[in-house]
Amino acid sequence: MEHIDMAIIGGGPAGLTAALYSARARAKTVVFETGLPGGQIVTTDWVENYPAFPEGISGAELGELMHRQAEHFGAEFRTFASIESIEAHGLDFIVTNSEDEKVVAHAVILATGAVPKRLHVPGEAEFTGRGVSWCATCDGALFRDKTVAVIGGGDAAVEEALFLTKFAAKVYVVHRRDALRATKCIQERCFENEKIEMKWNRVVAEVTGADGKVSGIQLKATNGDPDEHLPLDGIFIFVGVEPKSELVRGMCELDDNGFVKIDHNGLTSYPGLYAAGDVTVSDLKQVVTAAAGGASAAFEALRYIDERTCSIG
Ligand code: NAP
Repeated sequence: MEHIDMAIIGGGPAGLTAALYSARARAKTVVFETGLPGGQIVTTDWVENYPAFPEGISGAELGELMHRQAEHFGAEFRTFASIESIEAHGLDFIVTNSEDEKVVAHAVILATGAVPKRLHVPGEAEFTGRGVSWCATCDGALFRDKTVAVIGGGDAAVEEALFLTKFAAKVYVVHRRDALRATKCIQERCFENEKIEMKWNRVVAEVTGADGKVSGIQLKATNGDPDEHLPLDGIFIFVGVEPKSELVRGMCELDDNGFVKIDHNGLTSYPGLYAAGDVTVSDLKQVVTAAAGGASAAFEALRYIDERTCSIG
């Protein structure tokens, strides 16, 4: 079996920064990524709150730069194979992928991120890919001159609604309260945009369809107003994220929502197992905090490996 120092599961900003720190410390570092390196930011049109880019940078370019930097310092990438299990092996870990290839690692950093939440309403699953989407960057151009709705009131919903105005004739933002959660400067742009109409105090009760594609949404009012049907060509759902923490369930402590509990250095409740980025319990889920978490986790994991190696040696 192949032996490495550091297995990093996930190639988003947290994993890529962990890989950069680990590889620069000359640890044998492998990043395992189900798709291409970059993570969720690859599907983000524009990132304008990552330091050093005064006008912002496309999410795809930022992800690629982080990838190149980690690779430049010697991190290896194994892409397009998902990790199926992480098992304890003495003080080490055996990491097994979907091809049943195994590596033994002294330490593991879980940086698997999070996936968008579902609404769990009738029609959502049936019309996914037929008008229901979780990625405006991927699917927005399909809705040129059409009418779409974005569901949610956080940063993701409002940013993606603004992005969709590049294509769609009209964008509704459907929010369950009467105030947005999104950062104020994004809210201002949203309220100024003539293509955007707010649907306050509304939740989606059903996604309706006709001829095999979305025809609209049935909205239920949360403030006692009458319910209504909104005719639409597309619906983009951004109601938060849930962690991809299945791999370590049972191995380390998770919170009630499945996010991995870590200390301020990225250590989980299991020795040698670290975590960083959106998969962890954290108030602020940003590229910059994911990158910082990846750096801390790598720093601590390297120290853990060194201490073990010294005490064995
Ligand atoms: P979020 O901040 O958790 O916001 C989720 C939104 O969806 C909230 O407005 C919430 O309403 C609403 N919601 C939740 N469940 C719902 C349901 N079942 N039905 C209807 N509405 C529902 O999630 P996010 O916007 O996906 O962002 C996730 C994290 O990434 C956040 O930390 C965010 O700051 C970060 N992020 C940052 C940027 C950026 O900095 N540029 C961009 C994207 C994401 P309530 O407000 O009533 O709770």
